[in-house]
Amino acid sequence: MKFTRAAAAALICCGLLGTSAFAQDDEQVAADAMDFAMHDAEYTMYHEIGHLLVNELDLPVLGKEEDAADALAVILMLNDTADLDESANALIDSADGWYFNAVKADRATVEDLSYYDSHSLDIQRAYAMVCMMVGAKPEDYKETADAYDMDADGQAECSYTYSDAERAWNKLLEPFLATEGHTGEAITVVYEDAAPGFEQYKDELQSRAILDNAAALVSAKFVLPRPITFLGTQCDTANAWYSNSDAQITYCYTLTGDMHDLYVNDIIGSGDEGTSEEDTGESDGAEESE
Ligand SMILES: [Zn+2]
Repeated sequence: MKFTRAAAAALICCGLLGTSAFAQDDEQVAADAMDFAMHDAEYTMYHEIGHLLVNELDLPVLGKEEDAADALAVILMLNDTADLDESANALIDSADGWYFNAVKADRATVEDLSYYDSHSLDIQRAYAMVCMMVGAKPEDYKETADAYDMDADGQAECSYTYSDAERAWNKLLEPFLATEGHTGEAITVVYEDAAPGFEQYKDELQSRAILDNAAALVSAKFVLPRPITFLGTQCDTANAWYSNSDAQITYCYTLTGDMHDLYVNDIIGSGDEGTSEEDTGESDGAEESE
């Protein structure tokens, strides 16, 4: 399991560790940035699957649906036994993504933050994820939680946060579990062409089968009442969303580029300013944005 970058940031901020410790050659940075972006894409797909299940299966939600979708993403990834190390790295990178997005936005004033947004603040999403992770598997994620400055009592409390969320999701999803001979409608995966400069993200998403693996997991586990499409495409904004009217989850290559640039510019701090657009988190109301 990798060393969480939140700890690295804390060390840099406090002058305990020079940035030279993170000096890496360009090739390694590019590879790590792509890994980081792909891990975030995995998490994002699972998050959107949370929205999909709520809507397609008409599940009740207590509290914010965005928080519930975050919780389901963590639960699914923690229990993805196909490759637990890969899932762990993806979870840590995704939490770090929220953390560093918050750090990047640190210059914003209190008035600039959208407290009424359907999403919790990025920094809350980072800590909520780590809480769920250490709550589920204290030994595996203690180092991560320590790096996030969560004290021992807080980490212990997280076991209740995790078990509450897991119990609620399991209970709601139980009637819709697929069994041998009883499966639901299929999910079609489509990767549309990428705009110039974004082809590498489309190719990597496709070669790692990020959308395909998420689709396979949902199809194997749950009985979906109608056919669904998972669409990788180019968008104006760095986003992903589930649309009930389209029966579709859309994942934007622009978001991959955004996370790639976040890693290069704000985490490693070795690149030029990114060219990707900022994530606006826009939603038209009919769709659930990332
Ligand atoms: Zn969402």
